[in-house]
Amino acid sequence: MGIRIGILGYGNLGRGVECAIRQNPDMELKAVFTRRDPESVNILTESAKVCHVNEAREWAEKLDVMILCGGSATDLPVQTPEYAGLFNVVDSFDTHARIPEHFANVDAAARKGGKVAIISVGWDPGLFSLNRMYANAILPEGKDYTFWGRGVSQGHSDAIRRIAGVKDAKQYTIPVEDALKAVRAGENPDLTTRQKHTRECFVVAEEGADKAAIEKEIKTMPNYFAEYDTTVHFITAEELRRDHSGIPHGGLVLRSGVTGWEKENKHLIEYNLKLDSNPEFTASVIVAYARAAYRLSTEGAKGCRTVFDIAPAYLSAKSGEELRASML
Ligand code: NAP
Repeated sequence: MGIRIGILGYGNLGRGVECAIRQNPDMELKAVFTRRDPESVNILTESAKVCHVNEAREWAEKLDVMILCGGSATDLPVQTPEYAGLFNVVDSFDTHARIPEHFANVDAAARKGGKVAIISVGWDPGLFSLNRMYANAILPEGKDYTFWGRGVSQGHSDAIRRIAGVKDAKQYTIPVEDALKAVRAGENPDLTTRQKHTRECFVVAEEGADKAAIEKEIKTMPNYFAEYDTTVHFITAEELRRDHSGIPHGGLVLRSGVTGWEKENKHLIEYNLKLDSNPEFTASVIVAYARAAYRLSTEGAKGCRTVFDIAPAYLSAKSGEELRASML
């Protein structure tokens, strides 16, 4: 029998987890839990059930790991501590500033229930965090850079959609090529927000809306756009559907450092992701960490972990012997 998985919350990420499980023969999706009417949620896996979240408790002995796919803003701060006492859980909580508080809440619940929780799994936080940490441990003298994009920022797209006269919108975050070049050349530049990323917006306006006013409101929006060079394109609903329906993302983590007695040698570490689907890739990372949560739990571990605490071999379906023979 494979590792028995539950998915709680069935949005983009929930569906991505369902797809990722299909690519991992040692795992089996048993059930999807939703706050909506289960009848209204159509999943792809014929052998799995769709249940209301209120039934989740009854599954405590029937699942090895519950993957939490709610949103970071309001769902996960409540859901992860709630379910970490009942199941081994993995979440993708990405509000960086609130991770310490979330960790403490989840750790208390998981310890009480004797379960393992792994939080903030994905690519940022997640794989990018690991790469920042490895690079800092290896090159203690150096400078860190993280660039995001080209990719869709859900939060910025939502902010544009809330403007009066806007029907729909998609926002792309794009790294500035010259900034990247300078970092790669080992120049260690000090970069302002504006020098690192630009923002490009594709907006569908309502009929008769004042486009100049909309453009001005976008470009001057504090925290979201005012600190960036922003371009606004007005397009039709059809063009938005045709050209901008995907959820691509990605980015780069770089560390530029020096070694040698006189610090005479430069080194550049670069980790680069180009993702056609942000949620499907994030889900694939989460599923590998679900395997780790299950294994740790079978070893008697309890409490909350982050990607920093999980040894790499726990992620792989291959045995230690196979890994040493094929990948070391
Ligand atoms: P989403 O599609 O908005 O789904 C969030 C929740 O909304 C679902 O779990 C679902 O819960 C609920 N929902 C309500 N009505 C829905 C409807 N009609 N269709 C679909 N879902 C509906 O968000 P997402 O794209 O899956 O992303 C979830 C979180 O992942 C984000 O908040 C983000 O923090 C995190 N994330 C992290 C990383 C990382 O690298 N760490 C990367 C990407 C995303 P119910 O089924 O209970 O209704």
